[in-house]
Amino acid sequence: MNLILLGAPGAGKGTQAEILCEKLGIPSISTGNILRAAIRDGTATGLKAKSYMDAGRLVPDEVIIGIIGERLSQPDCAKGAILDGVPRTIGQAEAIEKAGIQIDAVVAIEISEEEILRRMSGRRVCEACGSSYNVEAVPPKVEGICDHCGGKLIQRKDDTPETVRERLKVYHKETAPLIGFYEERGLLKRVAVSGSKEATNDAILTVLGMEQ
Ligand code: ADP
Ligand code: ZN
Repeated sequence: MNLILLGAPGAGKGTQAEILCEKLGIPSISTGNILRAAIRDGTATGLKAKSYMDAGRLVPDEVIIGIIGERLSQPDCAKGAILDGVPRTIGQAEAIEKAGIQIDAVVAIEISEEEILRRMSGRRVCEACGSSYNVEAVPPKVEGICDHCGGKLIQRKDDTPETVRERLKVYHKETAPLIGFYEERGLLKRVAVSGSKEATNDAILTVLGMEQ
């Protein structure tokens, strides 16, 4: 089962992808995490991506399409994957179709702009494994430390208010059109964020017809 999570930055795609990954037993693939790891490791892809990411812009489609093709061909994706933050443009969505990657459902996580801005200022991510937290809504068990791997939690460089505004602009222009794209294909399921991450996850499983 290949599942796409669509939503504005801060909608909670990464958090939901993590929960779904555990419940469905398929890996979650975050292009944001892959790119941040590439920057940390100083690879050619990382060097290419860094300036775009720091400015809150999108990394060029050809870079993303390369990453995703490579990642999905790995054996752990044989039974499917959860795509978190990709596709983010019509070009990427068309490339996925052309590559013959079958998408079973697209979950659009809907959230107000006000809530996004509030969340982003409290967001922290694990430097080592990429897990995300929120100082208010989704705190780690021990302050500043990742629950999963013990890594250090840091604030992302692109979570500053100016960069967040730029990312929202880019979202409306480049990514929001994917809602119509997948609606036309009969794949779109809408979910409004609710109070807790668990409640939102239940709502996602419900629209997927997978209530436990
Ligand atoms: P968020 O979902 O909070 O916006 P991500 O971690 O998914 O953050 O992405 C961070 C940055 O990485 C984006 O602002 C963009 O520069 C780059 N990026 C990630 N995924 C893609 C993608 N599919 N296409 C283009 N750029 C991407
Ligand atoms: Zn971690």
